[in-house]
Amino acid sequence: MKILITGGCGFIGSAVIRHLISHTEHSVVNVDKLTYAANLDSVTEAAESARYALERVDICDRQALGAVFARHQPDVVMHLAAETHVDRSISGADAFIQTNIVGTYTLLEVAREYWLQLDDMRKNAFRFHHVSTDEVFGDLADQVHAECLVVNAELNARGANSPLNIHDSALKAAAPFTESSAYAPSSPYSASKASSDHLVRAWHRTYGLPIVVSNCSNNYGPFQYPEKLIPLTIQNALAGKALPVYGQGNQSRDWLYVEDHARALLAVLTRGRVGETYNIGGNCERQNLEVVKSICAILDELAPLHERAQELNPHHSSPSSQRYESLIAFVADRPGHDVRYAIDASKITEELGWKPQETFESGLRKTVEWYVLNGEW
Ligand code: NAD
Repeated sequence: MKILITGGCGFIGSAVIRHLISHTEHSVVNVDKLTYAANLDSVTEAAESARYALERVDICDRQALGAVFARHQPDVVMHLAAETHVDRSISGADAFIQTNIVGTYTLLEVAREYWLQLDDMRKNAFRFHHVSTDEVFGDLADQVHAECLVVNAELNARGANSPLNIHDSALKAAAPFTESSAYAPSSPYSASKASSDHLVRAWHRTYGLPIVVSNCSNNYGPFQYPEKLIPLTIQNALAGKALPVYGQGNQSRDWLYVEDHARALLAVLTRGRVGETYNIGGNCERQNLEVVKSICAILDELAPLHERAQELNPHHSSPSSQRYESLIAFVADRPGHDVRYAIDASKITEELGWKPQETFESGLRKTVEWYVLNGEW
């Protein structure tokens, strides 16, 4: 199968490509604009394969995209290209609206025109897999608050004088998001992803384009651009810099090791039912402060490895103190910051037999080791 992957030089796209080239016989056409978030080093080995081709193209450029489809004749599309950093979306949403919404629309149109002219066999086998995030569902804590407010209004109307109290325990016990949870995005990033999810489903319902959608929780692992929590914390710690934690650090996220996500995406692309959505998650909820403290503890243990890596590689940063936790610095919270995301991934496990191979502890250790040994990243 020839898979056209958008955003294949990014964090997750490159993990998918490394997996496809090393563990399958599939071919890959990587369509990437090469923004600041892209890194060709993440696909260096894959690029040596005859089954790999790179097209430096913006997904908003309809003509160039059309030419890529005509030249490579892909069997399926996996769409990952996006602007992905929430903080950047808050300081400037323009690129998010362009790439995530207009770009997805443009890709859908080019894919639809291409799909329509395929012969029946290839047409039936064609898939457009849209890769998305659990952030489209918004804040689970907000939704629990909203449900309690409705119950309280009803209790009030019936003259009851003991309204429900919203305790932390109620927030923690709230049921995680399923594939049928309502969308309630909070940031320009998640709103733009929600918009693209709706476009993809509309192209299925209106035009019959065979789509599948997946919504995944926070990923971590090697080759992630160091602006997101885990790589930023590791790199700042190794450089002896402050480890910024938003607010009190009590925001709770589900975490998934990126290679587990890559395997899940392949399962959804090849075996997911057309028109369906699959939630993907690690069943590994952790508060941000807990994540930062876990990284510090692993770094404390790995101090000898870090020192050795520094001797071997001049790119490595200067030695820092061993008690990394003392570098934690609480900073003003992000506006509109969601308190809790949690995802129910039972559908993909039951239907497609996928489940994560890494626990948070094993995946985080591998990740920290990778950044310690790859200081030039
Ligand atoms: P990333 O920011 O690391 O990489 C994005 C890639 O897309 C880069 O290579 C970039 O050059 C490319 N790109 C950006 N704009 C483009 C354009 N206009 N045309 C062509 N290429 C363009 O992103 P990521 O973390 O790998 O995320 C990939 C996808 O997975 C995104 O759609 C994201 O919403 C989704 N997702 C990410 C996470 C996560 O934790 N990182 C979790 C769930 C879902």
